[in-house]
Amino acid sequence: MLSSLSLESNLSNLPGIGTFFQSKLASLGIFTIKDLLYYFPFRYEDLSNKTQIINLTAGSKITLTATLWQITKIRTRTGKSLLKATINDQTGSLEVVWFNQDYLLTVLKPNQVYNFSGKVAFFGRKLNLVNPKVEKFLIGQEQVHTGRLIPIYSETSGIRSNWIRAKIHKLLNTNLIKIPEILPQNLLTQESLIDRNQALKEIHFPSSIQNLEQARERLAFEELLLLNLRNLSLTKKTASKKFPNWKFLANYLSDFELLLPFKLTSSQIQAIEEIAQDLKSNQPMNRLLQGEVGSGKTIVSAFAIWQAKKAGFQAAFMAPTAILAKQHHDTLEKIFSGKLKIELITAKHKPKNLDFDLAIGTQALFSEKNNFRNLGLIVVDEQQRFGVNQRQLLRSKGRDVHFLSMTATPIPRTLMLTLAGQLNLSTLEELPNGRKEIKTYFVPQVKRESAYGFIRKKLKEGGQMFLVCPLINTSESLESVKSAVAEYERVKTTIFPDLKVGLLHGKMKSLEKDEIISEFRQRKLDILVTTPVVEVGIDIPTANVILIEAADRFGLSSLHQLRGRVGRRGQKSFCLLFTESNSERVSQRLKLLEKSDSGLELAELDLKYRGPGDLFGSLQHGQIELKSADFVNLGLINRSKTTAAKIFETGMSKALEDEVKKSVSVDKIFSRD
Ligand code: ADP
Ligand code: MG
Repeated sequence: MLSSLSLESNLSNLPGIGTFFQSKLASLGIFTIKDLLYYFPFRYEDLSNKTQIINLTAGSKITLTATLWQITKIRTRTGKSLLKATINDQTGSLEVVWFNQDYLLTVLKPNQVYNFSGKVAFFGRKLNLVNPKVEKFLIGQEQVHTGRLIPIYSETSGIRSNWIRAKIHKLLNTNLIKIPEILPQNLLTQESLIDRNQALKEIHFPSSIQNLEQARERLAFEELLLLNLRNLSLTKKTASKKFPNWKFLANYLSDFELLLPFKLTSSQIQAIEEIAQDLKSNQPMNRLLQGEVGSGKTIVSAFAIWQAKKAGFQAAFMAPTAILAKQHHDTLEKIFSGKLKIELITAKHKPKNLDFDLAIGTQALFSEKNNFRNLGLIVVDEQQRFGVNQRQLLRSKGRDVHFLSMTATPIPRTLMLTLAGQLNLSTLEELPNGRKEIKTYFVPQVKRESAYGFIRKKLKEGGQMFLVCPLINTSESLESVKSAVAEYERVKTTIFPDLKVGLLHGKMKSLEKDEIISEFRQRKLDILVTTPVVEVGIDIPTANVILIEAADRFGLSSLHQLRGRVGRRGQKSFCLLFTESNSERVSQRLKLLEKSDSGLELAELDLKYRGPGDLFGSLQHGQIELKSADFVNLGLINRSKTTAAKIFETGMSKALEDEVKKSVSVDKIFSRD
């Protein structure tokens, strides 16, 4: 039975991965053997320097193969306990200590040979190895956790990097599965790429830095090529469709402006004209509307919705959260005041009949096959919050409809062009109410108390604050990361007992959510403790302070979005960034927000600091999109593009075509949510 496993097989087929680990892995987006093999390390620890005791020098990171002579638990003068061991090889003996790892006492056995990997340091006047990694040494058996470049994987609660490493190593070193090559041999030669099997081995367990680079290049190329081929296939399908062109009034702009309580900005007018051109043509629109928070994207999309109605089509407006869907519903109801029949669709509320012009909702909009009578337009708000796969699904649903997506997170142009195929771009460059600066401060730990004082003053003066925590509940493996539920209790009882505090997060019932938001909106609350659910779109006119805990866990673009929740009506506002991290790199990165208030600039900086993955908000969802994101570069993007075009013209091999198809079969992804 085991020999029939393929890359697509579910992990439950593997020994040692029961339901517990399956559910943990699922939260990392890992379901199949392939998912696991394509779960790449985010860094490596170099423990490849093997040496002997006689050659040790302070400060070096080494691996020793030595016999454990003895090991004992001792108590220090300060009452802490530590393990002390003596090890020796043919050249001498050495003392080793471990702090907080008492379990090793039962694991390690005297007179056995182990690998010890770690940093050599002076302990008193003697050289010593502190907290080394240990692994049993067996002649002829490959080391997994020591003595080489060691892969380090992102963890989740309940799953450690060590565990992932051991599983992947086993998978790569048994004959359980075959890893078939999908790229044509002549392409590998032409592009000097190593084969897939070898690349997967080397990316997890590199035999050298140079080989690691080759593995990364091969895997990034593979991923980009598939992406390009997928785009080409979809484009071809789209292009072969006949498409009705929508009739327009001669004065379509002034006709639309009659609906509005304000004058459009010139950026909005330009975007509307671009959209009008798309809608008039006999090709389906695929346009991304990009504009800073508050630049007025909703109204621009209302134009397209209005034209759909005039052309006799239904429109769908999809938002990433139910809260936002509700808000858009209220806004658009006001604008169209009875001229459109609008339905707010939620998991609970389905329309009674299909006799509406506009449906607004979350993904629930497309949960069933026949939700629409005559769909002509899909608008997706905050599209960066949806995965590439979900967008692709929508795109395939919308193959014969016009498609408008909107984002406040600018995607650097080159990247976008490649990722999105034949996507067109409109940009809103000005803000209707003028650009206002939101004073941003990185708050080091020592200043926490005085920051609370500052906040109290602002709130007593009539302001309102969002307090954002990355998690809803405290997590085991991320104990130090603040959670909204715990922070709500703490803030309410010990920090600001004199102020009114509310709690909002994604796991609450939608009725509860609505109630809290409306209390906050009516200023019955001073502080709203929440999770990044407020990141997107929520419009509370009087909020003027936002405090973000564990800010280091967010990309700069996300932080910029969060910051856009305050100062909505031009009032003087503040953003305070807190972190428990002492890392210099973290504070440097966060300080960039003090200096820049350009979304585009911050997106470019994200690209530099954390790779393109973040631009799509994927990390917060635990959904990894471009798996090779960190090692994609412009040269590779271009090479993959040219190659894809060539392959597409001359025809794909069966293996490659299957692979491209697999990457398009996204219904699977949806059912994972
Ligand atoms: P975003 O681009 O962040 O989605 P919204 O569409 O929510 O921005 O618009 C932000 C606010 O600006 C809304 O209250 C909206 O009514 C208002 N607004 C949009 N366009 C204009 C305009 N041309 N003049 C004045 N206010 C506008
Ligand atoms: Mg918006």
